[in-house]
Amino acid sequence: MQVMKFGGTSVQDATAINRVIEILRQQQTQSTIVVSAFATITNHLSELIESLKQQNISAAESHINYIHNRHLTISQDLNLESEIFCFIEEMTEELKQIVLASKILGEVTPRSIDSIMSYGERLSSYIIYHAMKNAGISISHIDARQIIKTDSNYSEAEVRITDTTQAIEQFCKPLFSNHDVVITGGFIGSDSSGNTTTLGRGGSDYSAAIIAAALNADRLEIWTDVDGIMTSDPRIIHDAKQILCLTYDEAAELAYFGAKVLHPKTIYPAVENQIPVFVKNTFNPDFPGTKIINFSKNNKMIKAIAFRPGITVININSNRMLGAYGFLSNVFNVFEKHKTSVDLVTTSEVNISLTVDDDKNLPLIISDLNKFAKISVQKEMAIISAIGEGIRNTAGISSRLFGVLKGINISMVSIGASEVNLSIIVNENDMIEAIRLLHNEFLASLPHSEIFREITKTDTE
Ligand code: ADP
Ligand code: ASP
Ligand code: MG
Repeated sequence: MQVMKFGGTSVQDATAINRVIEILRQQQTQSTIVVSAFATITNHLSELIESLKQQNISAAESHINYIHNRHLTISQDLNLESEIFCFIEEMTEELKQIVLASKILGEVTPRSIDSIMSYGERLSSYIIYHAMKNAGISISHIDARQIIKTDSNYSEAEVRITDTTQAIEQFCKPLFSNHDVVITGGFIGSDSSGNTTTLGRGGSDYSAAIIAAALNADRLEIWTDVDGIMTSDPRIIHDAKQILCLTYDEAAELAYFGAKVLHPKTIYPAVENQIPVFVKNTFNPDFPGTKIINFSKNNKMIKAIAFRPGITVININSNRMLGAYGFLSNVFNVFEKHKTSVDLVTTSEVNISLTVDDDKNLPLIISDLNKFAKISVQKEMAIISAIGEGIRNTAGISSRLFGVLKGINISMVSIGASEVNLSIIVNENDMIEAIRLLHNEFLASLPHSEIFREITKTDTE
């Protein structure tokens, strides 16, 4: 049993979907397919919500028209029959009703936001299901809301693992007694009242990982539009190289610190169940891609540079910290109270600096912190993370890193928190320059074989 997830670009049009069908035909084992919305559809849904918030009904309607026409065209190009056209009409009508209700209500509730955001995957998974069935694949479709059970934290719902595993056991597994393939949409789930929820942008990877864990799959494949995980984002670093093998720790840190190719939560379900993860290119299916497992030969290296702009640094200064216990916990209680997660923390005798990327509740956080400390805030900052087992295993990496960045102002440094991650905070304006310098220093000049090498178990023994 394997789980294969195909992202938005991989299913962007009929040609791409036919390519996915060809990939599926090559498979020898039972497969669960998790698909994203067709490329850009979720962005349109998100813009539709923005138009609704501004009560710009004509803009909202034009997004609905675009979404309707795009699905219709893809279905026509796939030669699908009338039932799919009825389905598209029904879904479009439902979306229009939600728009109408929001117009009357004068607001868009978090619940209706998730309901709107779910249409991309609900439409794509059903259309692709019909295309695969017509292509002769023995396949069944399941609505993801039936199996992915979450809390009610709309837009960033947490998966309730036990209920989800049970639902997959009950509703998904039996489908394999009559079919080789089961398809579902990523990104969406439902809460205990049956309301539709979503797992956060890019969440289809996470859906696939959760399903792989629940089915105890032999492998999880993330099919996307690049040759695997690269040494940095190829859109910025044009000579980025493809990495053949990463450890779970390295992949988890890379995803968490900004490499969009994997949703940050993807790795954990796989690690817990020791499921190997493969990142592969739908447009170059014979290329081996990146394998993520528990061991790696090249453990003396930095393997990738990840980054995340839009970071806020909060500096907390107080003499009361000196020799006092409980100070840090007071600080973190404030962040917990305002449901804001902290990414990096550094402390000195009288100062704590920490970073957040969600500054929605920043004014409230600052007002609470001001009650017991002096606060200063730096906005428009970026985290850059050098990632690799080499950080834990090799002396001198940090001095090389600071040496190469000597012309750039570094506001914060965090080494050793995860052992495979060395993160720094710089001004957003310096971010690209710093990434290029680091990539050149640590990765660009390495012989290909160091990174492109396939790793086998005997290599590590
Ligand atoms: P999908 O729609 O298949 O989920 P995404 O757009 O979410 O695809 O992720 C793939 C993209 O991630 C790539 O096109 C690439 O631009 C970007 N990316 C960022 N960092 C990396 C990296 N280190 N390696 C590979 N791709 C990366
Ligand atoms: N369609 C969703 C998004 O664009 C989820 C995903 O593609 O993973 O964010
Ligand atoms: Mg993605």
